[in-house]
Amino acid sequence: DVRLRFAPSPTGPLHIGGARSALFNFLLARKLGGKLILRIEDTDRERSSRESEVNIYESLKWLGIDWDEGPDMPGEYGPYRQTERLEIYQKYIDSLIEKGHAYYCYCSEEEIEEQRKEFSAKGELPRYNGTCRNLTEEKRNQFIKEGRKPVVRFKVPENQMVTIDDMVRGTVNFETNGIGDYVIVKSDGIPTYNFAVVVDDYTMKISHIVRAEEHLSNTPRQILVYNALGFETPKFAHVSLILGSDRTKMSKRHGATSVVQYMEKGYLPEAVVNFLALLGWSPGGEEEIFTVEEIIERFSLDHVSKRPAVFDMDKLDWINGTYIRKTDLDKLTKLTIPFLQRSGYLEENVDEANYTWVKNIVACVQEKIHSLNEIPEYMELFVGKEVTFESDEVKDILKEEQVPELIEAFKAKINDMEELEASEIKKALKAIAKETGIKGKKLFMPLRVAVTGRTHGPEIDMLITVLGKELLAERLDFTLN
Ligand code: GLU
Repeated sequence: DVRLRFAPSPTGPLHIGGARSALFNFLLARKLGGKLILRIEDTDRERSSRESEVNIYESLKWLGIDWDEGPDMPGEYGPYRQTERLEIYQKYIDSLIEKGHAYYCYCSEEEIEEQRKEFSAKGELPRYNGTCRNLTEEKRNQFIKEGRKPVVRFKVPENQMVTIDDMVRGTVNFETNGIGDYVIVKSDGIPTYNFAVVVDDYTMKISHIVRAEEHLSNTPRQILVYNALGFETPKFAHVSLILGSDRTKMSKRHGATSVVQYMEKGYLPEAVVNFLALLGWSPGGEEEIFTVEEIIERFSLDHVSKRPAVFDMDKLDWINGTYIRKTDLDKLTKLTIPFLQRSGYLEENVDEANYTWVKNIVACVQEKIHSLNEIPEYMELFVGKEVTFESDEVKDILKEEQVPELIEAFKAKINDMEELEASEIKKALKAIAKETGIKGKKLFMPLRVAVTGRTHGPEIDMLITVLGKELLAERLDFTLN
């Protein structure tokens, strides 16, 4: 059976890198008709919080990544939070100690620090020196009497080569000699990641482990535990780091790093998913816009690159803009409302007239924006009786000879209309062109400038619809005086 897992540590909001790992697991699970398990790795009790856990659920749900088993989705192999699995780990810890693969270590932090310094001084990798590997009964009793709290260390076999057959990176070898006996249970009795993860992946029957490259160096430590417990290893795939545009590891310096930040900035989940899928995976060919179904159909680890993926914000904006243009106007209107409320352009209560107003605004800017939080920047076009001119040159456009005639003709046409509708306005403009002989740019530019103070912007007929008769008249009066 194909079983994949996403195993975040709830130590902060879900990060873009974590979301990419979750997505790749999700894509592969759906592609192969397998299951996706969500496991919360909360053994670092100090840094873990329920708040982060909830953020992880919400971020994944927003992205449309769903899972089959998890803390909120009971399944056969639960519980799905590591701190609720302590009894399960104990059995395997006991077995490792009994078989001589692990031992209690009573060294103090100061002693360990000393050892590390000694290795460093010799130019070797700092590591544990194995002092407690062969403690005499007597020595151990003495430590216990002193009240020392032991950790449990895994006994790393010497002179071995651990080989990872990685589905993305190919064969990767690690020598065991540099590793040093590592802690698998802390002095407070809580297992460490490198041990718990093995027991969990084994007992949850995980078939493929897809995770970030930063865990590659943990993998030999985990494989040694698999071997010691006599477990078969799953398949591994380590996906490359995500770099910022300056080719250093993606971090807060590069901008928003958490999924919720993108949500709040007005990115659409479908666009973020499309973008994240392309961070390391390539569908082949020129096409870059795919629905999640299309991605699932095409996805395979064979097309996941070992090279680092670069997080290109312009590309995300481009993809998001493409999705905004594809999105149905009503849906987009609903998504836009909170952005206008937050920026003070819209009241909490939205009635039908407000809704239509927003919908018309969205129709005006849909072609122009890359994310919904750009909409408030356009609002100056749609509210206010006064017109601010972009520059003096732009204002000068209104000094051209035929402008007064043009604007008078326009006002007259508008006056005759009951309601302003884009199609009617278009007709009126055509009629003006016919009557006055002023056409094209000479017709549209002065009108645009008179109404908005700018030379560029949304379609003039749509824009006028949003303004309505009254506001339009007020703006024209303002401009003409
Ligand atoms: N809890 C680990 C992390 O958040 C996941 C490690 C893994 O996928 O094995 O980085």
